[in-house]
Amino acid sequence: MRVRFAPSPTGALHIGGARTALYNWLLARGSGGSLVLRIEDTDRERSTPENVAQILDALEWLGLDWDEGPVSQAERGERHRAEIARLVTEGHAYEDEGAVRLRVPDDGATVVDDVIRGEVRFEHAAIDDFVIARSDGSPLYNLAVSVDDRDIGITHVVRGEDHLSNTPRQLMVLEALGAEPPTYAHLPLLHGPDGKKLSKRHGAASVQELRAAGYLPEAVRNYLALLGWGADATTTFFTTEDLIGRFSLERVSRNPAVFDEQKLRWMNGRYLRELEPAELARRLAQLHGDRDDLVDAAAVAQEKLQTLAEFWPLAGFLVERPREIDPRAWQKVMRDGALDRLAEARAALAAADPFDQVEVETALRGVVDRLGVKPKEVFQPIRVAIAGTTVSPGIFESVAALGREEALIRIDAALAQRP
Ligand code: GLU
Repeated sequence: MRVRFAPSPTGALHIGGARTALYNWLLARGSGGSLVLRIEDTDRERSTPENVAQILDALEWLGLDWDEGPVSQAERGERHRAEIARLVTEGHAYEDEGAVRLRVPDDGATVVDDVIRGEVRFEHAAIDDFVIARSDGSPLYNLAVSVDDRDIGITHVVRGEDHLSNTPRQLMVLEALGAEPPTYAHLPLLHGPDGKKLSKRHGAASVQELRAAGYLPEAVRNYLALLGWGADATTTFFTTEDLIGRFSLERVSRNPAVFDEQKLRWMNGRYLRELEPAELARRLAQLHGDRDDLVDAAAVAQEKLQTLAEFWPLAGFLVERPREIDPRAWQKVMRDGALDRLAEARAALAAADPFDQVEVETALRGVVDRLGVKPKEVFQPIRVAIAGTTVSPGIFESVAALGREEALIRIDAALAQRP
């Protein structure tokens, strides 16, 4: 199997493109074949080096490597022109006001035998002799793609359904070139949860955005694989090795697939919880400025995270002292004797020994019992004092992770704010 991923470098790599890349990669890796990366950069204005770099970056982050390329389509212009000239010489194409058109028969039809969609028939009566070269000699899209696929020896063209309508034209060019056509497989469209075509409105729309939002590449690979494919009706979690072993075009659906960021969040949370805290800390550091002091905080926050980006708002206080206590949190919690309860908790924490999660819990529950109040009447004031807000991971883990000295410093600072 020789497959290709052929992005037009117009900016960030979109979810649909990423799925196409993944499916091609899985086919190549599962069959022992090759994946060729071809950059369709004939639109010179949009195909800037930055845009190409974005595509390569996104593929690298997703862990999708390629065996040949990147091949620049623009740099193959000579080949395209030579084939256009040959098609004219052999009578398959002709000049028309400087441009070159391919001859399309008046009768009959071209049938695309698509692995996913079955036979799709395109009547020739509805297809004009189409332009394959502009009057300046530059090749048009359907010509360039066909010549490239043939020259590169592509056996399977796997791409989005939006390209199905180009396929009869590409088949006609290939036939005129005297080339065996590849096998075609057009992947279903992607919709948002509202059933409309996937767009920005539905949340993160590109690989770059998913990365910045703190998704793990392995979770994204797993989720993208399910956008149109399933090994069976129920299995949701696949290691990348499973995917390579089990993916097949025969099980790709022809119905639109729904990209639901909420499901991806859920799946990502499951992947996050599987990581060793040291590994989680390493991933967090990639997003939070390469620091090496996140392991304890990562361990404490792990249960509550669905994305890496949630870490800092939830647990950043474990790593850095909050600049101030959120005034709304103060108003809501530090009233009706809360500061007296906080002072009691301070004394109990000062005596806890050793200062670990178990002893911190024993000390604080002791305060709750002694005062005869609800647990949260003791725990919330501590939370506000140490985190500066009313949300944090578990209070015992958080206090223990801070350590006695830092916990008491923050509690004392809160007590000193007593009006
Ligand atoms: N360059 C096209 C795109 O980015 C893909 C063309 C193809 O796969 O044949 O949508």
